[in-house]
Amino acid sequence: MSKPEDMWQCQTTNCGYIYDPDRGDRRGKIPKGVSFEDLPDDWKCPVCGAGKKCFRPLAGEGSVVDESCGHYSNKSSS
Ligand SMILES: [Zn+2]
Repeated sequence: MSKPEDMWQCQTTNCGYIYDPDRGDRRGKIPKGVSFEDLPDDWKCPVCGAGKKCFRPLAGEGSVVDESCGHYSNKSSS
């Protein structure tokens, strides 16, 4: 089970995807056990396509959202 500090949540509107290193990202071809920091710089949220800078950890330091992410919104409303 991942610690909250190791789990990163997408901050874009209407997304809420959480990267869990215990699961990896199958769509992004990220195997299990890869920490968020070790993801490639061009990795994107599999849900909304936001970049890594739009993520922040669920706990711990660094939980500050980059301001530029505020402009990135997923228009699809369901
Ligand atoms: Zn997202």
